[in-house]
Amino acid sequence: KEEWTILRDHPDYLKLSRAELKEKIKSAGIVGMGGAAFPTVVKLSPPKEKPIDTVIINGSECEPYLTGDYRLMLEKPAEIIEGLKVFMKILGVSRGFVGIEDNKPKAVTAMKQAAEGQTGIEVCSLPAKYPQGAEKMLIKSITQREVPPKALPMDVKVVVQNVSTSFAVFEAARYGKPLIERVVTVTGEGITEPGNLLVKIGTLISHLIEECGGMKDETLKVISGGPMMGFAVPSLDVPVTKGTSGIVVMTEGEIAHAEDFSPCIRCGRCIDICPMGLMPSMLSIYAEKGLYEGAKEYNLFDCFECGSCAFVCPSKRPIVQLIRVAKSQVKP
Ligand code: SF4
Ligand code: SF4
Repeated sequence: KEEWTILRDHPDYLKLSRAELKEKIKSAGIVGMGGAAFPTVVKLSPPKEKPIDTVIINGSECEPYLTGDYRLMLEKPAEIIEGLKVFMKILGVSRGFVGIEDNKPKAVTAMKQAAEGQTGIEVCSLPAKYPQGAEKMLIKSITQREVPPKALPMDVKVVVQNVSTSFAVFEAARYGKPLIERVVTVTGEGITEPGNLLVKIGTLISHLIEECGGMKDETLKVISGGPMMGFAVPSLDVPVTKGTSGIVVMTEGEIAHAEDFSPCIRCGRCIDICPMGLMPSMLSIYAEKGLYEGAKEYNLFDCFECGSCAFVCPSKRPIVQLIRVAKSQVKP
C-alpha cells in the first residue's frame, strides 16, 4: 500500500544553517546518483584538515549511451544550479562549476542561462572525450589540479557531485522530498523505443522495458548502468535502485565475447589510452595468473574501471573483468 504526504515549500532554504541542510539531505536518503550511490552527506563532511574550496557539478555523462543527465539539464537547469548553491553553502566555498561536454550545446546554453547573475558559478564547456565524466578527469579539465594516485578529490580541495544528485538535493532542501524517484535512460540496439524515464526507485526493469515498447528478438543481454562500467542483470525482475543511471538492451552486434580473447601482444594501445596513466596490460597479465599482489604494484586501485583499455585491445582481453577479480582478492 502506498501512502503519500503533502510536501511543504520552504523558499528560504538557503538561510538554513549548514547543519540543518545536511540533516535534510541525510533524512532524504540522498546518494551519488551517477552510479556509485555513495551517501551524499558523507561527501559533504570532509575532515577538518582537508578544506574544500571548489564544488563541481558533473554534467558530463559518465558513460556512452546514457543521456539522463542531459535531459535533466534541459528540463531542470535552475533547480540544478540551486542544488549547487546548497552544496556551496554547506561546504563554505565561493567557487562552483558545472562541467558539460561540448557535444551537448543545448545543455550548455540552458545551464548558462540558469547560472546567469549567480555569484561564483561558472558553466564550462569541455571537450567531449570518454571518460570526461570521471571525477579525476573532470577536476583536471576544470581546475588544472591533478588528483595524485591513491588520493581523493578532497585532497585537491574539490567535491564533485552529479547533476541528478544536485537536483535531488534542491528538492530535499526546498520541499523536504526524499529520494524516491530518478531519471533512467533505457537504450541500446535491442530496445524498441529508447528514451529517458522518470521512475520510482524499486520499479522493476521489466516494467521500464515494457514502457519502451519491449525488446527486439535479437536481444542478447540487458545491462544495468552503462555499456562500459555496468553489469549484466540475471533477470528482468530486479528493481531500479538509487544508483541505476541506465538500462542498456544489447544485441549480438554490440557485444564482444570475453571467451574469444587472446594473449597480450604488447602493442601498448591500452597504455596509450588509459586516462590514469596505468599499464592495463600488466594489470591484466598479473590478474590472469592470480598474482594479485603483483597487480597492486602497478597501482591496481587507481583504475576506476572506465573500460577504455578493453575497448581498444586488439586481443579482446577482458581487462576490466580481470582487474575487478584482482581488486576483490587484495586489500588497497
Ligand atoms: S579500465 Fe583500463 S583504461 Fe580505464 S582506468 Fe582502468 S586500466 Fe585505465
Ligand atoms: S591493448 Fe591488449 S594486446 Fe595491446 S598491450 Fe594492451 S592488453 Fe596487450
